[in-house]
Amino acid sequence: MEKRELGRTGETIPVIGMGTWEMGDVQNDGRALEIQALRKGIELGMNMIDTAEMYGHGNAEKLVGQAVEGIRDDVFIATKVSPQHFGYDDVLKSCENSIRRLGVEHIDLYQLHWPSNQVPVEETMKAMEELVSRGKIRYIGVSNFSVAQTLRAREALPRSEIASNQVRYSLTHRSIESDILPFCEKEKLTVIAYSPLDTGKLPSGKIPKALLAKYALTPAQLMLNWVTYRDSVVAIPKASKVEHVEKNAAAITTRIADDDYEALCSVFD
Ligand code: NAP
Repeated sequence: MEKRELGRTGETIPVIGMGTWEMGDVQNDGRALEIQALRKGIELGMNMIDTAEMYGHGNAEKLVGQAVEGIRDDVFIATKVSPQHFGYDDVLKSCENSIRRLGVEHIDLYQLHWPSNQVPVEETMKAMEELVSRGKIRYIGVSNFSVAQTLRAREALPRSEIASNQVRYSLTHRSIESDILPFCEKEKLTVIAYSPLDTGKLPSGKIPKALLAKYALTPAQLMLNWVTYRDSVVAIPKASKVEHVEKNAAAITTRIADDDYEALCSVFD
């Protein structure tokens, strides 16, 4: 699996990782299958897992904890603190709770899930830097932040950088291309593309069949290949089925050519 640098951290992460929204809420067999899917993805090199304290009220983090048991050091774990916990003490507490549910010593990337209009980002980032200095988190990221919000958040971090902005990005949702994407490219923040498969609503009918045949890719694979075309972007598709995980891991084995990338852009303009 191809890797890319996370922001300016020197750390590399896989171009295709795994999301976990709506995972961890099923019981017994369903849960075992989800763990199996995550483990297969890790084995295939998609060893960045994205989760959040909010997903399944902690159940997704617990599932990730089970999936990485015994192989934690092989996995880059990203989770998120929810805006209602952006107060200084709440951030520290949320982080401890996530660490406990994940069953790990530290979180690799801790992200602010959404911007808050209740708590000043300066207060939240003070707590994030405290977590870095305590060794509880390694890197700080934001999610769903505009350029202006990212600039303000960055100002609030005297000792750390913002490594990434996790935002919605897919062939069918391209609004970040006007401002957030060029900003992240210029400032060297990684764009972590969420819902890269448009939550499973694949625009299969609209994707040229000739392109799928040329590269022997499924519509989902072509979407992942397209969304990670730029060096600044990594994607975190969610797949609870092993067969989907295998397809996703194979999506970027061959890169689509520049003219095919442009052709796809025009189809979805
Ligand atoms: P997504 O990854 O775009 O789509 C997930 C759907 O696609 C699932 O139904 C999955 O099916 C299906 N799928 C996966 N691989 C496939 C394949 N190869 N072929 C056909 N279908 C396939 O949607 P998402 O879950 O919204 O986004 C991904 C992750 O981004 C989330 O899980 C979460 O970690 C993160 N996220 C973050 C935010 C945020 O605010 N920061 C918001 C939304 C999502 P199965 O599950 O049945 O395999």
